[in-house]
Amino acid sequence: MSVRERITAAAAGRTITLVAVSKTRSAEEVAALAALGVADFGENYVQELLAKHSAIRPTPVWHLIGPLQSNKAAQVAPCIAWMHTLDRPKLIPLLAAARAGLPPLNLLIQVNVDAEDSKSGIAPTVDAVLPLAERVLAEPALCWRGLMCIPEPGAPAASFARMRLLFERLRERHPTLDTLSMGMSDDYELAIREGSTMVRIGSALFGPRPAKGA
Ligand SMILES: *Cc1c(COP(=O)(O)O)cnc(C)c1O
Repeated sequence: MSVRERITAAAAGRTITLVAVSKTRSAEEVAALAALGVADFGENYVQELLAKHSAIRPTPVWHLIGPLQSNKAAQVAPCIAWMHTLDRPKLIPLLAAARAGLPPLNLLIQVNVDAEDSKSGIAPTVDAVLPLAERVLAEPALCWRGLMCIPEPGAPAASFARMRLLFERLRERHPTLDTLSMGMSDDYELAIREGSTMVRIGSALFGPRPAKGA
């Protein structure tokens, strides 16, 4: 089965957005996948995203899925439609200023669902998410759409289920939230069954990435 067929089977009638993660892949490879009908692409590094953003026409829907340094916010904000890794208030006015006069930038708050020291993200509680979310909601140039997480490798269904529960709690207060970004090549079917609405898939679409430093 293809990735798309697996997504459809796991989704059981729900709509899932596929973000093709194109880090380390050439602009030609991205363009080839876009020609097959993939609309959304994700990059971890700002420089790599900007290079592909200027190289590929028509412009795909770009998602920044890696950490953002404050000094790069102004440069990248006009080139993306989604940012998955909001984890601190400092970025909010910078992104909003860079987005003035453009359609609102869709933002996901990154949650450190398994409380790993090595990962960014805020604590998986309503009380941790809401203060950050309320600052986003005060900016007309930004649109808070939901949450993103990167669970531990081999994460059990429980990590995804915890995210789903947090998302549902937040939705009781903010019913327009519609996006839960979770699931990668090794676990996207499980993530979808547990409530993901957006999956970020690299190697299952493009093949294995070259080892770092190779
Ligand atoms: C690399 C990456 C992905 C995709 O990883 P694969 O295992 O290749 O599917 C998804 N999300 C983030 C944040 C990543 O850094």
